[in-house]
Amino acid sequence: MTTAPGRADLHTHSTYSDGTLAPGDLVLAAAAAGLDVVALTDHDTLAGLDEARAAPPRGVEIVPGVELSAFSLEPDGRRVSLHLLGYWPNPDDADLTAALAALRASRDSRGRRMVAALAADGVPVTWAEVRADAGAEGVVGRPHIARALVRAGLVADVSAAFTREWIGGRGARYWAEKEELPVLEALRLVRGAGGVAVFAHPLAARRGPTVTDATVAAMAAAGLAGLEADHPDHLPAEREHLRGLAADLGLLVTGSSDFHGGNKPTPLGAETTRRDVLEALRAQVRPA
Ligand code: AMP
Ligand code: ZN
Ligand code: FE
Ligand code: FE
Repeated sequence: MTTAPGRADLHTHSTYSDGTLAPGDLVLAAAAAGLDVVALTDHDTLAGLDEARAAPPRGVEIVPGVELSAFSLEPDGRRVSLHLLGYWPNPDDADLTAALAALRASRDSRGRRMVAALAADGVPVTWAEVRADAGAEGVVGRPHIARALVRAGLVADVSAAFTREWIGGRGARYWAEKEELPVLEALRLVRGAGGVAVFAHPLAARRGPTVTDATVAAMAAAGLAGLEADHPDHLPAEREHLRGLAADLGLLVTGSSDFHGGNKPTPLGAETTRRDVLEALRAQVRPA
């Protein structure tokens, strides 16, 4: 028996967070890219899913998802930000929807703080402009601040704003903290909503500090289903390490592009997840 080729991309963003394609256009782009399955995983919101499902059917299965902002406290006291993908959650789950609303509210206040700090230094950017760029129902993220810096002619592209001079993480000049969920709480929310949790880009060191293996083990014990080893931000050695960890802990291994449209260079389908892995994830869904 041969396994069907991997044509599932399980991590993408639309205009409901910091991607540049509307959900319907994302589904059409997935079909054009030859994908059979695409997961919509906007940051801290499920709001784009109805639009994705309303797209003209092109034979692409849409996996409903969300990418939760979370953190772990490491044994040495470091606070490490991380992202948890939740697939097939019940969208009406009260605990999950309340937590997502709180994360979004915190993103707004944090965005305001970053804009205020920039404006105080004479950068011509306003909160109204950034909020409008994110869209009425869209979730504000640092890429929206970055786009304002591009419009102001201060950086060449979105990626160029992710440096210490601008908004490239803790310690960067105009970086501000946003609320994140303790990782075990994020896992509890996803599992409580019947969903399946995968640790997004666990070792993407270029984004900032990363967690220890002990944290991944604790997540596995708390119901984590998989590790996103194949991700554009992972080096070959990081992928290999994650495959070993997944084998040791009984976790699945996924691959995804983390597509953001024009806000990032990676194309849809650049990394994919095997069909049998997708089905093993699906088997862990708990019906409402
Ligand atoms: P936030 O969640 O608001 O802190 O913003 C983080 C988001 O910024 C990530 O999910 C990425 O989409 C984006 N991002 C992080 N680093 C880069 C980079 N070097 N270039 C472009 N986008 C980035
Ligand atoms: Zn993003
Ligand atoms: Fe992420
Ligand atoms: Fe993402």
